[in-house]
Amino acid sequence: MAYAVTHILLTIVVLDFFRHYIFGKHRFPRYLLVIGGIAGLLPDIDIPLSWMFSLITGVGTYFHGVFSHSIVWPIAFLLAGMILYSLHTKKKNKIANRLKTWAKISYVISFGWFFHLVLDCLYGGYTSMLWPLQTLTTFCPEFGLDHYAVSIDAIILVLWLAHEELHQKIKDYF
Ligand SMILES: [Zn+2]
Repeated sequence: MAYAVTHILLTIVVLDFFRHYIFGKHRFPRYLLVIGGIAGLLPDIDIPLSWMFSLITGVGTYFHGVFSHSIVWPIAFLLAGMILYSLHTKKKNKIANRLKTWAKISYVISFGWFFHLVLDCLYGGYTSMLWPLQTLTTFCPEFGLDHYAVSIDAIILVLWLAHEELHQKIKDYF
């Protein structure tokens, strides 16, 4: 599995590229990056949940990488976004705007969640992408990226900072 920092950082970097090059700042407000970044880590909520479950029940259980690492969740958020978006076209002004905002939030959560699964898959580790159909994903490549996790984080951070500086976008974050 990729580190927590990688999940957040890389999700934000990828979303930020979409923001700069495809959607633009107006259609893609900055808070969506924050939500996306958090969603990029959200599937690993099963780690503290496992601890809590073990503490409460007194039975050592570790269900990291199962339920929350299923493709079911990104699909659910994608569908929610599509429904909210289609509803927004039928409403006027204020409500329409709110629906559109929530549609965007759902899309970003869907993307962040999905991207987490992709990263876990690439890094090798616990993934049950097809849960409940299959408990262990068998199609993930064995790149062994786990060994380079720290270096990968550093490279991503440096490249992203360079990109932001080059485009004078670093001030967007302050
Ligand atoms: Zn994970």
